Amino acid sequence: MTNSLHPETLALHAGWRADPTTGAVAPPIYQTTSYQFKNTEHAANLFALSELGNIYTRIMNPTTDILEQRIAALEGGVAALAVASGQAASAFAIQNLARAGDNVVSSTDLYGGTWNLFANTLKDQGIEVRFVDPADPQAFVRASDDRTRAWYAETLPNPKLRVFPIGEVAALGRALGIPLIVDNTAAPLLARPFDHGAAIVVYSATKYIGGHGTSIGGLIVDSGTFDWEAKPERSPTLNTPDASYHGAVWTQAVKPLGPIAYILRARTVLLRDLGAALSPTNAFHILQGLETLPLRMPRHSSNTQAVVDYLKKRKGITKVIHPSAQDSEARARADKYLKGGYGGLLGFELEGGRDAGRAFIDNLKLLYHVANIGDARSLAIHPASTTHSQLSEADQIATGVSPGYVRLSIGLEHIDDIIADIEQALVAAGA
Ligand code: PLP
Repeated sequence: MTNSLHPETLALHAGWRADPTTGAVAPPIYQTTSYQFKNTEHAANLFALSELGNIYTRIMNPTTDILEQRIAALEGGVAALAVASGQAASAFAIQNLARAGDNVVSSTDLYGGTWNLFANTLKDQGIEVRFVDPADPQAFVRASDDRTRAWYAETLPNPKLRVFPIGEVAALGRALGIPLIVDNTAAPLLARPFDHGAAIVVYSATKYIGGHGTSIGGLIVDSGTFDWEAKPERSPTLNTPDASYHGAVWTQAVKPLGPIAYILRARTVLLRDLGAALSPTNAFHILQGLETLPLRMPRHSSNTQAVVDYLKKRKGITKVIHPSAQDSEARARADKYLKGGYGGLLGFELEGGRDAGRAFIDNLKLLYHVANIGDARSLAIHPASTTHSQLSEADQIATGVSPGYVRLSIGLEHIDDIIADIEQALVAAGA
């Protein structure tokens, strides 16, 4: 364990020192479904939440607990919940506050899977998601009413790569009693949404946090700074008796435990009932990745900047999309919210449009053509025909996907090799 506030130290030490029985230094994989109770009183206390402890791995697990403690420490939050995927994290983050008949206001600039979840699946569950242009923070206020339970946005949404005005929107929400949930998947460590007033952070741990491309996982982190009781009518799931937990009122039930009403309900109600638990082995893999995240993010950023600089000078490229290459307002936001680099994502458009974009991807030899971001390896994709293909053309444009857009997620290979591969694929595509 550590009292350090430095991410390099927290990533290696937060939440775990050594196994008390064996002395093992690496976090053990507790590959068990259940845990023997000491006696019937102990079992009853655990179920009544008068004592916290392991009951069943669908709800908690000691390996997963290390990951949860570590990400909470790195993010500057009070507690976290690990789940089976980033999608589960986004869904739970909303479902923990909004019920049928309620609504949520979200930025239009979203990962395609989140867009589908919001526009279709949550809608089918009776939760309306109202999409607004994130360039105008007041749009969140205008779209809200007394059934609005949360606001939602991504820090560094691809494909537009225009950084979200976290502080401006979070402050407006706090005045109304509405929490801002931020998906920080594309900018871990670079952006610290809690420092700017976000209430909840979610991650697809599948991306940079794991970094190795081996394991799907998701994380929800609770800042502990949102006052759910200040406007209790805003957050009925946390302020009214919960029939599924013998009438517990979560803001009251957590009083002896700290400001963890939100994350405790997500675990004890949603994870219990919907069951999207992370496997202990995947928690271990994600922990392995997390240990080197503070080293990897600066290299992702510097390699990506080098590719941006090269593409800006390259003939045949009509547009380069990157936080450093935005109009002055978006650039100022990038500089305000991203510290130590602009991250590993960039987009570009080829003069030859859709066909040239596809030819470029088909000719890559080092970069992988995959539907992922944040891997240690460099990756490329054509969003219009893949990740965003389930969206209508109008919705694709709204999320920033033009027909010729190519997205790159730049990895940790030597920069000369990355640029050489991009150059030969551009030549092969006729650029
Ligand atoms: N959020 C963002 C920004 C993503 O890019 C992704 C996946 O691509 C997700 C959420 C969903 O994560 P997962 O694939 O782990 O379910």
